[in-house]
Amino acid sequence: MKIKPMKIKPKFGSFSSITTRLVFTYFLIMLITLFLFSYYILTTIRVYLYDDEKLNVATMSNVVASFAVDYMDPETGLLDEDGFERFVNEVGVDSQMRVMVLGLDATVMYDSQNNRNLIGTAQVRPSVLTAINGTDGYMQYTNDDGMITLDASAPIKNSDGNIVGVVNVVYVPETTGRFVNTIFTETIFLIVVICVFVGIIIFVIANLVSKRIVDFTSKITSMSDDGILDEKLDISGNDEISRLGEAFNIMSEKVVTLEQHRVQFVSDASHELKTPLSSIKLMADSILQNPDIGMDYVREFLEDMNTEVDRLNRIVNKLLYITRMDAHANDDDKRMELLCLNDVMAGIERNLKPIADKKDISLIFSTPGTIFLTANKDVLWQGIYNIVDNAIKYSDPEGYVLVAMDKVDGEVVIEVRDSGVGIASEDISKIFDRFYRVDKARSRETGGTGLGLSIAIAAIQFHGGRIDVTSELGQGSNFKIIIPDTTLAPNEEVEQ
Ligand code: ADP
Repeated sequence: MKIKPMKIKPKFGSFSSITTRLVFTYFLIMLITLFLFSYYILTTIRVYLYDDEKLNVATMSNVVASFAVDYMDPETGLLDEDGFERFVNEVGVDSQMRVMVLGLDATVMYDSQNNRNLIGTAQVRPSVLTAINGTDGYMQYTNDDGMITLDASAPIKNSDGNIVGVVNVVYVPETTGRFVNTIFTETIFLIVVICVFVGIIIFVIANLVSKRIVDFTSKITSMSDDGILDEKLDISGNDEISRLGEAFNIMSEKVVTLEQHRVQFVSDASHELKTPLSSIKLMADSILQNPDIGMDYVREFLEDMNTEVDRLNRIVNKLLYITRMDAHANDDDKRMELLCLNDVMAGIERNLKPIADKKDISLIFSTPGTIFLTANKDVLWQGIYNIVDNAIKYSDPEGYVLVAMDKVDGEVVIEVRDSGVGIASEDISKIFDRFYRVDKARSRETGGTGLGLSIAIAAIQFHGGRIDVTSELGQGSNFKIIIPDTTLAPNEEVEQ
């Protein structure tokens, strides 16, 4: 059997591939997590370190401001630069801190750095303005080189509490800046290394998983390409993929069996149809090739041809019924309903009584009471009818056919007993096969098609039931139809 394979071969790189999706998803989750985590840690460290530095700078501006007033002329407000310089050296201000003393107009009167090049210039900076207004000022800004500058100002107050100037301290904590920058660069480096490392591991793991699926896919594709369906997938391990392989192997076994049945069925059906057709053709040829054939012969041939056409009709009808059963098991016309089995049996009796009477066979139906069951009427009818019909067909004249029904241990049991030819034990297992007949000549004589029991078993199995057969050659047969009783209330009522 050739089944066109689906051309779906996702490769690594295309987003439909499991490997790509796994690697990409894990990578993204890891990257986002690492970045958020690092950002939080780095920000915390940075804030902690700079808070410390800010305190130093602010304290320094306050300390210097409290002493600076001693070096200012109370009349003019001018600063004794040399004296103040000595004070700054004595206090031991960090050489990286730039200390400036400014007048109330923000003009620099003292500058501890860069050859005092800002002296005489106005430094209208926010922190300075805040201090001129009487409160400590602080600012922090980032230079072009990424370093952070801390800028703190404190008002200089005379003994009356009046503001006479401002001390401004500017500090670039290079060690802290370099430390923070180093941690930042190293963290980025670490994130990249972790990403690459984990990415490789995820890739390897995902590849191992998808490789087995790819192996399965290529094996399945080559199986369907070459039409070899009975090959098996190699299953090792006990994981989900192994179970997928197992399920596939079971399915392919079923497909092979179904295919064998299909081929057998088509071949048997063609053969069965060919036999009556050949007879008809033969008889028609005989009439046509004998122009002098008498009317009596023609009539005899036509009667035989009519019988064969009836046979063909029966075979075709049963074949159609079988295919409908196979293909439409869940159709609406197979819906289950609550049935009174007695009514179904009465209908079958009415249909078959004339046939039994013609053969002088006693057809006796017996029931202990009213039995209800949930079933599909037409399908159930086919199941019981074919078995009772056979019992009459395979019984000799003046025999009997007993049909009894009962409800035993939650099961509905319909027993069909006949006084017919019986079935050899080796044939019992085959009589339900399509087109199987123990005695072809007899079946043909009685108008059999070899399909009655296969329809019956399919119909009973449709109701979740089974058929038990006991028989002895020459002694008659007993067909027991057993259907689980899914009906509750009505039957309970009957039993009470
Ligand atoms: P058929 O149309 O030939 O009766 P079935 O599928 O109904 O086909 O039955 C298959 C074969 O089983 C019959 O040909 C017959 O040989 C055998 N068989 C079925 N029912 C009986 C029976 N009650 N007694 C004896 N043989 C039976």
